[in-house]
Amino acid sequence: MFITTQPNINAQQINAIQARAAELNCQTATLEINQQTIIHLLTDSKDITEVHFADLTGIEEVKVVSKGYRLISREFKPEDSIVKVGDIPFGGKAIQVITGPCSVETPTQMQASAQAAIDAGALLMRGGAFKPRTSPYSFQGHGEKGLHYLVGAARQYNLPVVTELMDVRDIDMFLDYDVDVIQIGARNMQNFQLLKEVGKLDVPVILKRGLSATVKEWLMAAEYIAAGGNLNIILAERGVRTFESAYRNMLDVSAIPFVKRETHLPVIVDPSHAGGKAWMVPALSFAAIAAGADGLLIETHPNPAQAWSDGPQSLTPEALKNLMPELELVAKARGRELGKLSPVEERNHLQVVPQYALAA
Ligand code: PEP
Ligand code: MN
Repeated sequence: MFITTQPNINAQQINAIQARAAELNCQTATLEINQQTIIHLLTDSKDITEVHFADLTGIEEVKVVSKGYRLISREFKPEDSIVKVGDIPFGGKAIQVITGPCSVETPTQMQASAQAAIDAGALLMRGGAFKPRTSPYSFQGHGEKGLHYLVGAARQYNLPVVTELMDVRDIDMFLDYDVDVIQIGARNMQNFQLLKEVGKLDVPVILKRGLSATVKEWLMAAEYIAAGGNLNIILAERGVRTFESAYRNMLDVSAIPFVKRETHLPVIVDPSHAGGKAWMVPALSFAAIAAGADGLLIETHPNPAQAWSDGPQSLTPEALKNLMPELELVAKARGRELGKLSPVEERNHLQVVPQYALAA
């Protein structure tokens, strides 16, 4: 149950609500969402209703949410949420494309990747500095040096960056580098400690679906982040493991409309890790947009044949550039459009920001 308070509520009134909940043996968490204080009654009980709070003041609305996932459910918030990365909205009319390589490799590679994103008209850049690899002997990412290369290249073009966080101990480093979007990868979808910690941050999070996670498990993982007060969550469908071995994963297109009906959060699709093959990326991207996705996370590499990870599924800069107008057509068919920069932002993107200029 959620008690949404009036904007002018005072501390005494909040205390009274919390005290009443305590009398009812109900634990509470107090959340600040969109400048509004919401008191979340954590304990599920059918016996507690709004009548128990009817005599208290400062209450705007009492809402009972029946689902296991509460804050992220449409029951809690019927209208779509817009998650903003700087000025870039996820979840509105615009469909956002995030692109870049699987792994951050070299400054030159990152420079070319940022240029490829700009040339194609993608508004955000990705690249992994901490890589969750199946084999401990595969390239594990450059770590902090990788963040430096990624942020160094992206900031020259004012491109916001998306990068994966694997360990709670690296959070301060991510904040120091002003990472714009923290990605929680498929393998960490149920790393509850990590989810709780990013839930305390004021940074947007992309939460990938686990390798074999049900939609419910995925949404409950998102609820962990929301429960900490961070509702800037973008869900990412990246294909699930099935009996099929002809391609890397099976893109669960059904999940897109389903999840969008269940939650108010934006949903994006990663066609690269779904198909695992560059030639499949266009078709899966079209399917994703047609099914209602709010964005795409596409791996692109300046030279896929030489990529240190996920080369076979990476588009060349040229392939990405050719794909964008086709994505726009599918978006238009759904009454949407690809995210674009305003003319002023376009100019800003071309201004090199000197403090981030890369050392050779
Ligand atoms: C990635 O985005 O590079 C990645 C490792 O993805 P996933 O967690 O979906 O496998
Ligand atoms: Mn990858």
